[in-house]
Amino acid sequence: MDGEAFRRAGYAMIDWIARYLDNVETLPVQSQVSAGAIRAQLPAEPPRTPEPFESWLADIDRVVVPGLTHWQSPNFFAYFPANASGPSILGELLSAGLGVQGMLWATSPACTEVETHVLDWLVGMLGLPDAFRSTGAGGGVLQDTASSSVLCALLAARERATGFQSNEYGLAQSGTQLTAYASAETHSSLAKAMRIAGLGAAALRAVETDASHAMRADRFAAMVAQDRRDGCLPFFACATLGTTSSNAIDPLRAIGEVCARERLWLHVDAAMSGTAALCPEFRGMHDGIKYADSYCFNPHKWMFVNFDCDVFWVRDRAALINTLTVLPEYLKNEATASGAVFDYRDWHIPLGRRFRALKLWFVIRHYGVEGLQAIVRHHVALAASFEQWVRADSAFEVVAPRPLNLVCFRHRSDDATNEALLQRVNASGRAYLSHTRLDGRYVLRMSIGQTRVEASHVRAAWELIRTTARATAREVVTVPSDGPSA
Ligand SMILES: *Cc1c(COP(=O)(O)O)cnc(C)c1O
Repeated sequence: MDGEAFRRAGYAMIDWIARYLDNVETLPVQSQVSAGAIRAQLPAEPPRTPEPFESWLADIDRVVVPGLTHWQSPNFFAYFPANASGPSILGELLSAGLGVQGMLWATSPACTEVETHVLDWLVGMLGLPDAFRSTGAGGGVLQDTASSSVLCALLAARERATGFQSNEYGLAQSGTQLTAYASAETHSSLAKAMRIAGLGAAALRAVETDASHAMRADRFAAMVAQDRRDGCLPFFACATLGTTSSNAIDPLRAIGEVCARERLWLHVDAAMSGTAALCPEFRGMHDGIKYADSYCFNPHKWMFVNFDCDVFWVRDRAALINTLTVLPEYLKNEATASGAVFDYRDWHIPLGRRFRALKLWFVIRHYGVEGLQAIVRHHVALAASFEQWVRADSAFEVVAPRPLNLVCFRHRSDDATNEALLQRVNASGRAYLSHTRLDGRYVLRMSIGQTRVEASHVRAAWELIRTTARATAREVVTVPSDGPSA
């Protein structure tokens, strides 16, 4: 593709994306296609001869769009936001256009230094401890996802606990059972990381939660003590600020005090809710953050940076680097030998890395700190309104505290009615919500954080839920489950 053809196609692509984002709220939010429907429209064999750009683009409209669930729709309220924005899309495009590999400082110095600098900015923007800044012993690095961050934290903690021996000689050498702790509501990525790290998912202790679904620090301390009596080596704990199910906030200070006393590595997972800390009034969840050895959050969830972009900070970068560094002959260079630069390949699992910081940098520059704060406040206020509407309707109940932008609620009937309600709302295409289970009950989740969501979308979703609920409850109540006229 020569420069002129690229330019023409590129302008058309940008036009397409802009039109898509302007119109996305008119499309059915959840894709309604059945399994295999998209593949069935693709040719069995790849093209033998070149096909023009126009025909690829036509297939996006014809084949791909019907098979999309529109995560950028302002009527998308499922799971968690994965909000994107113009500046972030442009940063992503530029990263592809530059095509640099930033595995070493020397392979593209700007790729490392812009990243280090922007992540130092973010420490201040979120009110995190100065210990996470690269100017001291800590520092931040971009990862793909929170799953990768927790794995890196776990590996560094494992090495610290075993005197940096298990990297070389394997875990069997240490002769002890390492144990890790997190609440029963912790994201499944930690159990996965335990498997990958060779520690075993069974060595992850699920700490009981309280009525608000947050970790009980007293139970945590008791489990650590029991494991010590049993000859295990407790080494790691994860506190979640904003659980995936219900946005529960673990008591960081109480957990941190146990970790400090017992010398456990404390990782803080704030994947979605971390963005809220842009606003000082939402930083209460950081009380006790000084105990954290590592912290991660996903700008790709709620901070207008398109997937993927996770920030991972550590207090002691030497522990992380000593865990992950490998220096084969072909990567040796003067800058690395001088010790004056960061080589980010030593801070995560992959060797290669792209210029992911561009989109984060662009987003911060486009909105400014105050612009970002304003949208986060707007989203939290929308969630507060929604919560009030639910509370004001006697047919519904709110079933968990709402610290930020997620409302967990249900119709005051049985699980089957709630399940049918959700299914019908989503099938309408006019809004899309997801569910969870809390205290054994089926619960609807209203997650608010789309880039273009306004009060009108939230209001329309609530009206849809209410009217659908009336119809659903009538049918579920009047039609016996074993069929009509027994
Ligand atoms: C979404 C989420 C994760 C997993 O995020 P990935 O970046 O997709 O790995 C982990 N923890 C919490 C609390 C989350 O909300």
